[in-house]
Amino acid sequence: MEMLINSKHISTDKSMDVLNPYDNSIVDTIPIADKKITLDAIKSAKNAKESIVKLTSRQIYYNLNDACDELRENKKKIAKVITQETGKPIKGSLYELDRSIETLIFAAEESKRIYGESVPIDAGLGGENVIAFTKKIPLGCVAAITPFNYPVNLAIHKLAPALAAKNTVILKPSSEAPLSGLMLAEILANHFPNGVVNTVTGSGENIGDILVKNDDINKISFTGSIPTGIHIANNSGMKKITLELGGNDPTIVLKDADIEKAVKEVVNGAYLFSGQVCMGVKRVIVEHEIIDEFTQKLIEETRKLKVGNPSSTDTDIGPLINNKAVQNVNNKVEEAVSMGATIEVGGKIRNNFYWPTVISNVQEDMKLVSDETFGPIAPIIEAKDINHAIAIANNTHYGLNAGVFTNNINDAIKCANAIESGSVFINKASTFRTDNMPFGGFKNSGVGKEGIKYAVEDMCRTKLIGFNIK
Ligand code: NAP
Repeated sequence: MEMLINSKHISTDKSMDVLNPYDNSIVDTIPIADKKITLDAIKSAKNAKESIVKLTSRQIYYNLNDACDELRENKKKIAKVITQETGKPIKGSLYELDRSIETLIFAAEESKRIYGESVPIDAGLGGENVIAFTKKIPLGCVAAITPFNYPVNLAIHKLAPALAAKNTVILKPSSEAPLSGLMLAEILANHFPNGVVNTVTGSGENIGDILVKNDDINKISFTGSIPTGIHIANNSGMKKITLELGGNDPTIVLKDADIEKAVKEVVNGAYLFSGQVCMGVKRVIVEHEIIDEFTQKLIEETRKLKVGNPSSTDTDIGPLINNKAVQNVNNKVEEAVSMGATIEVGGKIRNNFYWPTVISNVQEDMKLVSDETFGPIAPIIEAKDINHAIAIANNTHYGLNAGVFTNNINDAIKCANAIESGSVFINKASTFRTDNMPFGGFKNSGVGKEGIKYAVEDMCRTKLIGFNIK
């Protein structure tokens, strides 16, 4: 595929291959942008600012709706590309497209609800006879930098609210899985004036700083790993930033929980897209009275999962994104085993596949759980009681989502209040998100919130206008 700059398709002499993690075949190639091309994209977005600001909110609403219709028409085609470039099982890719369509509808709706407010300015000394109100105005140019794991929906979570708030955008998708995000950007661009939607491709290490440091970019909206997020925060100067970073989400199962329900949710949460999900269940913390029963049931359910070709509709577990990711998971599992953990089921590797794996006797200081492990692992940590479970849950520099299983309302409330994370779900695993909810972590898991209404707020500046009426 090519880049899109000022509504023109741009290619370069240098390109990189996009590989299918299932069989390492080449799906397509993308151009490698250099400094000049990246600056061209910034110039295009800057020059188009006026053309989107001129559109009425009503027109933006219709444009986003029309783009949504086009996305819906292309749902199967784009889902197939997600599966080819990421190895995500096709049922997951189709679900991602369903969510993406809904996210775009949320954004279209939100474009009509960008309100300022009247300010009671006479409450302040000297404010007599002044009336004032605020307006929410666009920031200007937004650079959206996205990861490989939800290449369409995470791009929509940035591009759609930016457009709803009348900003221009540049998408820099992951080099591992850029194609479906580029397809989405092309669809959006079809419904907006030239230069409003642009894309650049190439290594983040080489072109990231050009976007992040440039004064004509007014906001960086980034989703990805903590090290890259910290690098962006350190280099973005006075720009607004939103950082949606990694997670190490706990799911606590207390002794009075519905064990079947908890097991079902943990299976989905730990193994979804082979565990390559920011809000995946990364630590399963179980009260000791029920740990044997819980572990046994989790092993049984894990054995039922079908590992195989991600293009087959009955596949549950596809490959990881690349072999480096498999080795990362394997190293952490081996280290945990050497420190006393037990592989109960799984632990098998073939090419880019890592089998869904239950690991018991896990201790908090093992890298498998002290750091984010992006693989299909359900590591079980034993807790003495609810206080111990909460302490384990909070013993991390991450704080994205959390889940708690209990039938005791007091324990539920205690956990909900005590766990330090952006969301806590009772009787649901951490791996839950609807695209309208405020989403974003505490601690090193991020800065700012997405979820369309919240992202739109962050894509605006507030201007106050006052009148002396005396
Ligand atoms: P990543 O390696 O940080 O890459 C994310 C994006 O940043 C890619 O487009 C990458 O480009 C770009 N990038 C790399 N270096 C850069 C630099 N110096 N400046 C600017 N951009 C740069 O993350 P990933 O491996 O793709 O994604 C996995 C991570 O994302 C996990 O930690 C996961 O938890 C997190 N995540 C968080 C959320 C959330 O909402 N909180 C959602 C999904 C994923 P290249 O691909 O060209 O290197």
